[in-house]
Amino acid sequence: MNRGEDRAPAEGSPDEALPTTPTPEWGVRAFQDQIERIYGARDRARGVSGTFLWFSEEVGELARSLNSGSRGSLEESREFADVFAWLASLASMRGIDLASAAREKYAAGCPRCGNTPCDCSHRTRE
Ligand SMILES: [Mg+2]
Ligand SMILES: [Zn+2]
Repeated sequence: MNRGEDRAPAEGSPDEALPTTPTPEWGVRAFQDQIERIYGARDRARGVSGTFLWFSEEVGELARSLNSGSRGSLEESREFADVFAWLASLASMRGIDLASAAREKYAAGCPRCGNTPCDCSHRTRE
């Protein structure tokens, strides 16, 4: 979902919260490539298990941010970016192109029922 599309505005304008504006060219693939350039060698040297541990730690940081109430803040957006970055690194290490994987699984709607929005009953039990 695009920022600001379905949420209350954060303090200040959205452009204050995030200094950069996403462009069509800077999508999932460009992000994964950039993370590979920045951290790829180091992450490969650490290995998948150690990198997954870091990913898990960042998920914990995101959980704390989501519980903090600083909804939509720059700090919170950076926790999302951290989780995404570690996920991208893990995908690269496993030879997965995240953009292709996401598109293959979700572009046609819910992979289970095929609908958009999803009509699966298991989703309504949450
Ligand atoms: Mg973090
Ligand atoms: Zn469904």
